[in-house]
Amino acid sequence: MSLAFDDYGRPYIILRDQGQKKRMKGLEAYKSNILAAKAVANTLQSSLGPKGMDKMLVSPDGDVSVTNDGATIVEKMEIQHPTAKLLVELSQSQDAEIGDGTTGVVVLAGKLLEQALTLLDKGIHPLKISDGFDRACDVAIKHLESIAEEIDIQANDHEALIQAACTALGSKVVSKRKRELGKIAVTAVLDVADLKRKDVNLDLIKIQTKTGGSVEDTRLISGILIDKDMSHPQMQKEVKDAKICLLTCPFEPPKPKTKHNINISSAEDYKKLYQQEQQYFVEMVKLVKDSGANIALCQWGFDDEANHLLLQNDLPAVRWVSGTDVELIAMATGARIIPRFQEITPEKLGKAGCIKEVQFGTSNERMLVIENCQCTKAVTILIRGGSQMIVDEAKRSIHDAICVIRNLIKDNRIVYGGGSAELACALQVLQYADEVSSVEQYAVRSFADALEGIPCCLADNCGLNPITSVAQAKSRQLTEKNPRIGIDCMELGTSDMKEQKIYETLSSKKQQIQLATQVVKMILKIDDVIAPDDY
Ligand code: ADP
Ligand code: MG
Repeated sequence: MSLAFDDYGRPYIILRDQGQKKRMKGLEAYKSNILAAKAVANTLQSSLGPKGMDKMLVSPDGDVSVTNDGATIVEKMEIQHPTAKLLVELSQSQDAEIGDGTTGVVVLAGKLLEQALTLLDKGIHPLKISDGFDRACDVAIKHLESIAEEIDIQANDHEALIQAACTALGSKVVSKRKRELGKIAVTAVLDVADLKRKDVNLDLIKIQTKTGGSVEDTRLISGILIDKDMSHPQMQKEVKDAKICLLTCPFEPPKPKTKHNINISSAEDYKKLYQQEQQYFVEMVKLVKDSGANIALCQWGFDDEANHLLLQNDLPAVRWVSGTDVELIAMATGARIIPRFQEITPEKLGKAGCIKEVQFGTSNERMLVIENCQCTKAVTILIRGGSQMIVDEAKRSIHDAICVIRNLIKDNRIVYGGGSAELACALQVLQYADEVSSVEQYAVRSFADALEGIPCCLADNCGLNPITSVAQAKSRQLTEKNPRIGIDCMELGTSDMKEQKIYETLSSKKQQIQLATQVVKMILKIDDVIAPDDY
């Protein structure tokens, strides 16, 4: 598409290959966009809440994953439609900023779009709808802040944090073990948190998965765990007071480049070459040892020759350390990543109290753990489980829990879940609607209806009658003036979410409502879709 000007200086748009492009305008464009985006939201709807269903996703090359995590589902759906993609991004931005609430945000956007569609049919202009939603969103956010409660994160052995983690884990495959996993997540975050600055660097929490054992065997390890062992079985198994040489170059002699040939015509030539190679190895090992290092961690491999030499020279080494591990080790131990042997100097070495091989469970598999790193504390959560699918999902779930705890350390205000916060906001927005005298009133009211969609959806997913349960909750909220009444999904006999201890962070709920509104406004502003014909 390009902009051109005619003889009188008036701009006009040239569409390249217009014949081969499909073009939709006006109401047709709005509606088709909304329907496409709604289709995505509808798929996620059944995954919301503690009894939400999981989705099985099969990738083009046959990998299967089972998940309940909204961001993962939409990412793996490989959505083509351009506006539907906006919802994928919506879920991902919630994931990046907050970490939890990725299903809820898409479901809410879907509900808003549904309302928008009805309003469009009534003949209300998209911009009016957009404005109304915007105003309602402000009201909802303000109300959310007024009903939020501060929690004491230290009290009672961090009980509030554990409860919040449990809420995040409650809807996942691993929900049976939510208490144990929640505790692990809380300890991990508190271990690396900077409570004074109210900040947590999540990079310092490594999540390592390993199939085998069961989810109960998941545990927290203080230090960095890497799924590797010493490169030679006879090397020492424990290095105390480790001085780490962190290499990103291979332990091997330089290979001839493709342009060059080596002509070996006699046995002498061969011997010479062999000796030269040996010399290289000897020098490399010497450079490492001379710097004072007592262990070498290498991102690349090395062959048997080098391995043997390292053993002979008493230099324990680890090969094929992954790139992310290299970065984490560098950060925690203060090591500089060294790309060439010539650049090794003593001050570039990282320091750690101890590096040792450890064994888990009954299997013979060994891993290395780097303890007491010099610069910062780092911890590893080792996730075990029967199959790759389970450990992958457990990893995503624990990630959600960790994010929730981090958010609470940053901002310790919570609202209650089970749809109670949404319902309270809906009631407030509804009240506000009566004060709006212009067309936007309809949009404001529809916004309230959309918010009600969340408790409705939660009730539906756990087999309750959505209409009666939401109506009940709503009337109780009004008569008892209690914004904590929600849907009793687990049928525990009380609808008060404070009693059920369903904690959600204020930041997550706020972000959900704001992001969903933003995306819907964006979709409502598109009145012209120009795309290649095969869409
Ligand atoms: P998301 O990916 O959006 O976090 P979840 O599947 O985790 O989606 O569901 C979150 C929703 O479920 C929230 O609205 C939360 O309040 C609600 N929820 C979680 N646990 C419970 C529970 N035990 N009872 C009622 N509602 C719950
Ligand atoms: Mg969740």
